[in-house]
Amino acid sequence: NLTDKLEKAFHILKGHGRITEVNVADTLKEVRRALLDADVNFKIAKEFTNTVKEKALGQKVLTSLQPGQLLVKIVRDEMAALMGGQASDINLQGAPAVILIAGLQGSGKTTFSAKLASYIKRKKGRNPMLVAADVYRPAAIDQLKVLGQQINVPVFSIPENMNPVEIAQKGIEEAKRLGHNVVIIDTAGRLSIDEQMMREIAEIHKTVKPSETLFVVDAMTGQDAVNTAKAFNDVLDYDGVVLTKLDGDTRGGAALSIRATVNKPIKFVGTGEKVDALDVFHPDRMADRILGMGDVVSLVERAQEQYNEEEARKLNKKIATNKFDFEDFYNQIQQIKKMGNVKDLMGMLPGVNKMIKDFDIDENAFKHVEAIILSMTPQERRNPEILNGSRKKRIALGSGRDITEVNRLIKQFEDMKKIMRMMQSGGPRGLAGMMRG
Ligand code: GDP
Ligand code: MG
Repeated sequence: NLTDKLEKAFHILKGHGRITEVNVADTLKEVRRALLDADVNFKIAKEFTNTVKEKALGQKVLTSLQPGQLLVKIVRDEMAALMGGQASDINLQGAPAVILIAGLQGSGKTTFSAKLASYIKRKKGRNPMLVAADVYRPAAIDQLKVLGQQINVPVFSIPENMNPVEIAQKGIEEAKRLGHNVVIIDTAGRLSIDEQMMREIAEIHKTVKPSETLFVVDAMTGQDAVNTAKAFNDVLDYDGVVLTKLDGDTRGGAALSIRATVNKPIKFVGTGEKVDALDVFHPDRMADRILGMGDVVSLVERAQEQYNEEEARKLNKKIATNKFDFEDFYNQIQQIKKMGNVKDLMGMLPGVNKMIKDFDIDENAFKHVEAIILSMTPQERRNPEILNGSRKKRIALGSGRDITEVNRLIKQFEDMKKIMRMMQSGGPRGLAGMMRG
């Protein structure tokens, strides 16, 4: 999948000291391929990687230490910018404000209409009414009514009437009469783009003059989503896009392509079948999702803040010459602790979040380790090889830990040293480097 691909792409950069034309080219080729696989349009993917390349090369002098991570950040920021940069709010002007929902059948219009009504009620303090203007499927009206009941929002419908334009108009009148200040009109869609559907939605649009027209599209439909988005935009010139079904194993590429193709903001994402499964669209979070990065960027930023290049270099040398000792180990623990709560930090790593849910990390995990190290004499800390039976016993007593725990720590320390030496060729810098991946 895309995440693996990008991880592979970024991995290419590991071990290089700086971003150069040569190593950036390889990586960006992989990024481009990954984007194409995620249904991002070819032209957009190409433009995107070109922009990233320019920015990356421009920054090589500034931060020479972690080119891979720097590139991740550039890719991510650029992607967020391409998707609009900032979250875009919904327009609720008008008395009442009229919101028209359009899209293909099965895209999630009816579900979204209810979600939006609930959102507007809870978050905007408004008093919405839903209008069922899908006249082709009698079950559609019932579906909206059931949802309306769940969120306690009234649903207007005229079951025997076959004219959606008229229903929409009557619905707005009714809303005015009952004092509702927002009207959400759920419309009928067809399985694919057809002329009658377009004529009908265009007529509703022309008649009710909505404050906001939202186009709903199923994110799982990939490149088709882009074509549909374009077709509806040609007819409706809508104000925003709603991307549904992002809860599944969906490639987020549609968000990138749609935004770049129709140049309309994505305003909401649907993340489930329940009425509360709605999120305001955040370009930066979407970029993270497409990249499968968790909150890797803030992790990098925080690590960069705390980590000192000079110290890192000294430490690397110590590891290489097998001089890494318990004093360094202790300092590394302090570094990690400074970076923040261990659990928080781990949670930012892609893939680790899920693990943490089942496996609770003891936030005081380092306490006992610190106690043991602090019970060693400076000489012992600098020369762990002198730690014999009687010294270990004294340390156990001093730290109030069991002798087996002291032995275990020393064993772990030796193992870790080996791993660090092994990993050094790959470019990580001490424990923090290992955590940064
Ligand atoms: P409409 O034909 O455009 O009105 O689409 P519906 O609102 O009836 O939704 C079609 C199907 O998709 C229903 O089974 C919904 O429960 C489901 N659905 C809608 N939005 C989402 C979503 O964000 N996530 C998931 N998993 N399912 C959704
Ligand atoms: Mg429907």
